[in-house]
Amino acid sequence: MEKLNNNEIKKYKAIFFDFGGTLMCAESDNVAHLHMMKEVIQKYNLPAFPEDMVTKYNSFLFTKEMTLRDADPEEKSFTPLRESTKKAFKGVLAEYDIQPSKEDFQWFSKLFFENHKKYIKLFPETLLILRELKNTDLHMGIISDIDNDFQEFQFKVFGISEIFDSITTSEEVQSYKPESKIFQVALDKARCQGEESIIIGDSYKKDIVGGKKMGMTTIWINKFQPDNIDTETADFTVTHLKEISPILKELIK
Ligand SMILES: [Mg+2]
Repeated sequence: MEKLNNNEIKKYKAIFFDFGGTLMCAESDNVAHLHMMKEVIQKYNLPAFPEDMVTKYNSFLFTKEMTLRDADPEEKSFTPLRESTKKAFKGVLAEYDIQPSKEDFQWFSKLFFENHKKYIKLFPETLLILRELKNTDLHMGIISDIDNDFQEFQFKVFGISEIFDSITTSEEVQSYKPESKIFQVALDKARCQGEESIIIGDSYKKDIVGGKKMGMTTIWINKFQPDNIDTETADFTVTHLKEISPILKELIK
């Protein structure tokens, strides 16, 4: 049984973060994509501008807020991101009547990892916030729509693997946010109820609506929809990650 200090009952046992666009700068992901497309143009000698091509490439994967597109409702089984990425590469080349070979896909996959390694960045305040939280007794978790290998790769690049008590990916649970499954698996790892946890994310539809359904306290980092009035599901709304510190101090004091 947990020892309580001065009869103080701590409400929160866990804090969860989304990754892309929340702890990692989504714009840096876009820079990686731009450099990938420059190399694609060069390899196939295409009459295209990298900026146009990255728009095209991203359109296969993301909404304009750089959150992952919803899976095709016709699709009955789970599609990992590496498959969607292949589809985006294929889609970009289809404009020029090029059918990528198996070797081309392998080349692209290597290019994908190399460029992400080189260009992806955390937000300047990410490490400070994570280190502050590490000094609390909260379970620190990640809930991310990502493939296992790419998640491990990115966390290794940033040197942040050790910070988290749990990491739950869409590939691991075979479903994407806002479906309850990914949140439930993460809560089980933290051995707590939704009501005893906080979720911080940049996607209203995925992180906030999905988290609230589980009873979590929600903090929305709203960077793209300042005029959105339909925000009542978010318990707190901020525009930058750094603004969460005073909120967390209140919540977990
Ligand atoms: Mg995100």
